[in-house]
Formats: sequence, structure tokens, C-alpha cells
Amino acid sequence: MSKSLQIHEESKKYTPGGVHTSIRNVDPFLVFTKGEGAYVYDADGKKYIDYQAAFGPFILGHNYPYVNNKVIEAIGRTDLYGVGCTDLEVELARKICTHVPSSEQVLFCNSGSEATYHAIRLSRAVTGRNKLIKFQGCYHGWHDYVARNMLSDWDMIGKRDPGSAGMMEEAIDNTLVCTFNDLEDVERTLRENKEQVAALIVEPIPHNIGCILPEPGFLQGLRDLCTQYGALLIFDEVITGFRHHIGGFQKVAGVTPDLTTMGKAMANGFPIAAVAGKREYMKRFNTEKGGDVWFAGTYNGHAVGTAASIATLEMMENEPVHEHIFRLGEKMRSGLRDIHDRLGVEAVVAGFGSVWTTYFMNFMPKNYTDLKQNNAELYVAYRRKLIEKGIFKMPMNIKRNHVSYSHTDEDIDTTLTITEAVLKELLQK
Ligand code: PMP
Repeated sequence: MSKSLQIHEESKKYTPGGVHTSIRNVDPFLVFTKGEGAYVYDADGKKYIDYQAAFGPFILGHNYPYVNNKVIEAIGRTDLYGVGCTDLEVELARKICTHVPSSEQVLFCNSGSEATYHAIRLSRAVTGRNKLIKFQGCYHGWHDYVARNMLSDWDMIGKRDPGSAGMMEEAIDNTLVCTFNDLEDVERTLRENKEQVAALIVEPIPHNIGCILPEPGFLQGLRDLCTQYGALLIFDEVITGFRHHIGGFQKVAGVTPDLTTMGKAMANGFPIAAVAGKREYMKRFNTEKGGDVWFAGTYNGHAVGTAASIATLEMMENEPVHEHIFRLGEKMRSGLRDIHDRLGVEAVVAGFGSVWTTYFMNFMPKNYTDLKQNNAELYVAYRRKLIEKGIFKMPMNIKRNHVSYSHTDEDIDTTLTITEAVLKELLQK
């Protein structure tokens, strides 16, 4: 039995499934003991080139010295106080408000789920309305407002599909589900629920189903419809934020939402998240005297997360981080397309910047329903074989890949060579 499996057996005694978040309990089960730059090492000492990036935070790479050193320096002198604020919080807030167009003001919390929860609650307070619109396939965290119609079974598309037992029935029913890239569907939903929709929340690129790009005009169309129907537009930039531009994907798209949620790449793997938006809305939070929307958290603004985030943003400000990851992302996408052409593989490579997904289907998907065409069996087998050969990705259907500032041209070349061999093996060419 591998060391990973031995440790998993021990873990299962104390923790349900032996893991601390849903979908970590996958086969092959790996226990990681070291992460360094672009590489991770399992308990048996095997090295992998990592493209999972812990679901996205690692934009610079694992254990990135510049970030780690800044964190160590910060916690050598400061930590958490419970009242007032720290110098680190102010510095980070200033940076975010400088870079992210919709961020006139910002508040820190600890996870993306907290950030989306706060943004949605604020939108209800601002509008006096109850309903929320989300898109089929998008993920915005684990709480009741949003945990429906995520990676639904195909026969549950268009139906009431709560993501968990124990959810509040009213929350499920007050969250309406639309089809991504379908403005008519959004328009109809807003019309049929006139003066009832508090907010529309969207991943500007739905990375939780790989990499579905918004069609030209789609995000602007959402902006216009939200303004027309008096609903707040929330960009959930927990994945896209900082990864695609230091100002978020909103900066790339030229569309400014009312509220933005951020996390992941914000602090290169350290726990911190943010909700930001227009001052006229943000002032409703009761961190300000007279505000009536509860916002709290014992660990909000902890020195570890704030110092890590300042360091991560400094790297983006001062080093060619995006230039590097975008170039390697494109190198990977075009290399994969060449392999598919050479081997005659029915596949499309979707992507933006440092992110890509290979879908085994013959057209570029525009929404979750299109992904029915993805050959899931091949997709999972492919990822599993890649893991065997030292390329780490989640061995699950419809998951994206990320490159970091630590990946090199050589890593991409190695990955492409291994990928070609794996595809040949799977397709027996
Ligand atoms: N929003 C998006 C777009 C996400 O991808 C995620 C996490 N995958 C979340 C929110 C929730 O973030 P967290 O896991 O930090 O609660």
C-alpha cells in the first residue's frame, strides 16, 4: 500500500472520508507532503508538475519565497487585535481600490463563500428584494443562497437542483437559474420576476466548468439588464480576479459591476477574500456607524492573509507575472491543439490567459448544457493517466488547469510530450 493510502486510512478514522472539503476524496488518492514553485510531491516522494494550483490560488507558485518571507516578517511583529485595524489592512485595501475598477471600497473576509454571502445579503438590503439570479454550472460557494444547479446531472438542467441536503427551502426557491451566454433567458427571468430580483451573480468566465468564455456583448448585456431592472450586478471574481488581470476580468472586459467578490489568486494560497463595490452600497455594511448590514468575522484582516495578499499584488505590480503566465498559457493551448491535429483527436482547447481546459468534443461550448457533448469518460481517463505520469490535475470531469509564474517553458514542453504519449495510448494510435 502506498504511503498516501496508509495516511488516508488513518485520516478516515478521525475525519469523514479523511478529507476536509468536498471532492478531495478522489481516486487516485494522494497525500502531499511538499509544494515548491510549479511542483508538488506526494507522501511516496513522487514529483508532479502542478496545474491544479489548489483550485486556482497559486498564481506565483507553491511556497513562493517573496510571499512567504513577507508573511513571516509580518507575523514577527503583528497578528490580530479584535478592534481597530492594522496598517496591513489599510495598505491592502488601498491597493485593491486602486486596481479593481468596481472597488471604491473593500472589506476583507476569509473565503470566497463568505464574500459571495456578504455581497448577496448587501444586495437584498440595498434593493429590498429577495431573489437572486445565478447561472447553471457556476459555483459561488457552499452556502444556501448559491448552492444549487452547480455541476448538475444532465437530466437536472432546468430543474430545481439543490446542491446539498439540509438547505433552506426558501433559499433554493429564491435563487433563479439562467443559461450562460443567453441574454434572452436573463431578460425573460428579470421580466417575469419584476421588482423581485436583488442581484445577478456571475463568474465572468465560468471556470468552475472549465473555461466557458462570455460571448462578445454578454457581460455588457448583463450590466445593461441589471441597470434596467434595478438589480445589482455581482461579478464573482474569486477565480478570475488577479489571475487574469490585477484589476480583475472586469478590467479586461471593460464592464464594471456594482459589487465584486475576490479570493484565491489574491494571496497566492493564503486564506483571505474580499467583497468590494461602490461606496453608495458598501456604506450600508455596519462596519460603518449607521450601517445596517451585518459584517463580521473574528479572523477578518488577519496579518497572515493581508501580508500575503500585499506581497502577491506587489509581485504583479513589479514583475512580469501576467506576461509570463499568459505566454505559457498560450504556448500550452497551441501545443495541445497541434497534438490534437496530429493525432486526429476530437477535442477543443478553451482558455484565457493562464487557464485552459481540453474538452473532448467537436465544438467550443457556450454553456453548461453544451458540455453534455464532452466525452467525460475519456476526459477522466486522460487526467488519470496524466497524474500517473507526473502531471497533476484533478481526475474529475470538467476541471480547468492553471499555470503559475513558477512554471517554465521546459515544464510546458515536458507536459506536452507526456500529453501526446497519453493520448496515443488512450486512443491506441
Ligand atoms: N466563487 C467562485 C467563482 C469559486 O470558484 C469559489 C471556490 N471554488 C468560491 C466562490 C468559493 O470560495 P471558497 O472555496 O474560498 O469559499
